[in-house]
Amino acid sequence: MTHQTVDILVSGGGVAGLTAAAVFGSAGFSVICVDPAPPVTERDAEGSDLRTTAFLQPAQALLERAGLWARLAPHAADLQIMRIVDAGGPEPAARLTRDFNASDISDRPFGWNLPNWLLRREMVARLGEMPNVEFRPGTGTRSVFTREGEARVGLSDGSAVRCRLVIAADGRNSPVREAVGVPVKTIRYGQKALAFAVTHPIPHENISTEIHRSGGPFTLVPLPDYEGRPSSAVVWMEHGPEAMRLSRLDVPEFEAAMNDRSCLLYGPLTLASRRTVWPIISQIARRMYAERVALVAEAAHVVPPIGAQGLNMSLGDMRVLLDLAEAAPERLGDARMLETYHRRRHPEVQARVTGIDVLNRASMVSAQPLRDLRMMGLNAIYALPAVRRTMMQMGLGARG
Ligand SMILES: Cc1cc2nc3c(=O)[nH]c(=O)nc-3n(C[C@H](O)[C@H](O)[C@H](O)COP(=O)(O)OP(=O)(O)OC[C@H]3O[C@@H](n4cnc5c(N)ncnc54)[C@H](O)[C@@H]3O)c2cc1C
Repeated sequence: MTHQTVDILVSGGGVAGLTAAAVFGSAGFSVICVDPAPPVTERDAEGSDLRTTAFLQPAQALLERAGLWARLAPHAADLQIMRIVDAGGPEPAARLTRDFNASDISDRPFGWNLPNWLLRREMVARLGEMPNVEFRPGTGTRSVFTREGEARVGLSDGSAVRCRLVIAADGRNSPVREAVGVPVKTIRYGQKALAFAVTHPIPHENISTEIHRSGGPFTLVPLPDYEGRPSSAVVWMEHGPEAMRLSRLDVPEFEAAMNDRSCLLYGPLTLASRRTVWPIISQIARRMYAERVALVAEAAHVVPPIGAQGLNMSLGDMRVLLDLAEAAPERLGDARMLETYHRRRHPEVQARVTGIDVLNRASMVSAQPLRDLRMMGLNAIYALPAVRRTMMQMGLGARG
């Protein structure tokens, strides 16, 4: 059996794993990143990830450190305003609209939105520039054996890698997390999200719009124009059976349903991509580490897609890991480093998982009195400028 030795093995080449490989590769560590599923890097190819990621302000500095920002910026759509619309009255119509404007707290937008398939394309290209980083699509992690001084990872191609740190970025069912026996707490909502792209006649003007009625939010996030028309990415959360029914409708019926649900805020929406369906859960690992292993991203925490928190929390994980690794490279992956990582990240991750759980439950309610209560809550928060600003800063991750 061949053995390769590197500083870090990243298990998982989703958006989080590729970012981790770029971050640590750019910092000079030797990295191997493995993933059994080769990345799909074209929008209309079968299996492409049509979700988008809204990178919030604090992400920019990390992406710059990883040599990624210059590649991504030309494709990004600014997020200047987060608009929350309550459409929870008896008829599907906007009855309360509140705008949270980035200019209230900063001279920059809240963040920048990019399609996930494009992120994979640019991230893989960035890894290809670094001689100290090897990306092995088509190869997965099969076994993990650790001792105090190192980890040995067996791969699906029969080879093995010895490293000082394993970064588990292999998703919500993380094989590495299972191999090292870290338990998780999972909340199921019986909800699914439809993710797809639309075009619309009314420009979005860099406004991200979250429409609440029942079953979960319907969110439009700005994209650059598509085929000469204003375009947005949509995440539409619904009870599972309803989401599946919607995903199977013929296009004209589906468009009618989404126009009803979007209250025509940007005019009639036209479907501009395939529809993909994602199960929605909340999940948190009891610990964010094991011997020689750091859990990051969905391997450590999963949240419903509300307020663009998922991947941004993952970047928070990487920021802390990178700071610790750069402060003491000789301690990479040792017990002290990983316990510190856990202490710095777990309380914040726990707070965000709890907060988003509450928001998701509020958005799901269907009884009219509860929907009215939700609208009053939004109005009350908005009416107090200090509370409003604090909420915005917390959403960005600028305040814990
Ligand atoms: C509908 C929707 C919209 C979202 N929108 C946003 C947003 O706007 N902003 C935001 O911040 N977040 C958002 N999120 C969350 C965000 O998409 C996730 O946080 C992000 O994709 C995390 O991905 P990940 O890399 O941890 O996991 P995944 O994307 O699941 O990647 C895990 C990878 O591990 C690989 N893998 C599996 N088994 C193995 C193995 N044995 N060895 C090695 N690799 C393996 C898989 O093939 C996969 O590529 C959204 C989520 C959903 C569902």
